Amino acid sequence: MPKITCVVDQETCIGCGVCANTSPDHFELDETPKSHFKDGDKDQVVEVNDSDLADIKTAADQCPVAAITVEDK
Ligand code: SF4
Repeated sequence: MPKITCVVDQETCIGCGVCANTSPDHFELDETPKSHFKDGDKDQVVEVNDSDLADIKTAADQCPVAAITVEDK
């Protein structure tokens, strides 16, 4: 399975909720509201299947302020 890191830049995130709506299994808003990647802490390498990776990348692509960084590891 692909290995990635996924980081939501807390300074850039405007809490619009697009990522959490697009990929609710992987992103959630806290009370701030800011988004967080649910599958791993910052810089933590996680394994995801191809379907989940597509979901995560779609959410990142749809973020209006490009706050989500997904890197292959
Ligand atoms: S789509 Fe981008 S700006 Fe909106 S909540 Fe998610 S990370 Fe934040």
